[in-house]
Amino acid sequence: MLDIEIVRKCYPDRGGRSHIALADLRLQVQPGEFVCVVGPSGCGKSTLLNVVGGLDHDVSGRVTLDGSPLQDGIGFMFQEPRLMPWLTVIENVLLVAGDDPTAPARARDLLQAMELGDVLDAYPGRLSGGMQRRVALARAFVIEPRVLLMDEPFVSLDAPTADRLRAMLVSLWQRCNTSVLFVTHDLREALALGGRVCFMSGAPGRVMLEWREGLSGPRLPNDAAVLALQRELLDRHPALLAGLLDQSGNAGQGRAQGRNNIEVRTDA
Ligand code: ADP
Ligand code: MG
Repeated sequence: MLDIEIVRKCYPDRGGRSHIALADLRLQVQPGEFVCVVGPSGCGKSTLLNVVGGLDHDVSGRVTLDGSPLQDGIGFMFQEPRLMPWLTVIENVLLVAGDDPTAPARARDLLQAMELGDVLDAYPGRLSGGMQRRVALARAFVIEPRVLLMDEPFVSLDAPTADRLRAMLVSLWQRCNTSVLFVTHDLREALALGGRVCFMSGAPGRVMLEWREGLSGPRLPNDAAVLALQRELLDRHPALLAGLLDQSGNAGQGRAQGRNNIEVRTDA
């Protein structure tokens, strides 16, 4: 089990004061579980993933996997594909695989599954945005990660491309027994993908509500059932999107005043 306990994560402010980005954040992810984290912009979602993934060590707290510090076996996918323009598609995927002799065959299989078999030796500059994200998805899985951290990976794609990528992600996740921590500010995307959805408060970010009801596993965000679920959730927790919930899920006293820009799409 992935066990995250962040007591406090501060950033130094330019004026000498520090900004508390995360405080008292607890989150556990079971092996093979797909957990979505939703929160308004600036609430510390990227900070959380950077801490969990060991990209940021300047934190008080601990992140363990089955009781040991989480060190390797971590796959990442970010908002931007972050491909090296001077490396080919397959070289980009293999960049994270070290000298694992089984990686090249796996990279090729993954890229075929991503329908990129014809562009293995192309450079990223030649690829569309959707293709670049598919390369990034293959790269995230090539190490067969135990933990996969995804930071709004499908943001700013057109809806059909994003749906296709979500379906590809789901099929890769179902094949590996990876624990996924998927961050988004799109409520429908979270309710569609997650087996559990955790809501973060505004700064300092912490998990203020967990929701499992009606989450039957991956679906498309446009599924009518997802829309109904969104309606039920917002009916039950009308204050949710204002970042004003306390731990019990009730409207609290305004400890957290996050700017509300969680995306709630009500179109069918
Ligand atoms: P989110 O991903 O939820 O939009 P971030 O984790 O990027 O939020 O940021 C959380 C808060 O921490 C924001 O107020 C942001 O301005 C601040 N922050 C993020 N990175 C840094 C940094 N490197 N230095 C200072 N402040 C930062
Ligand atoms: Mg972010």
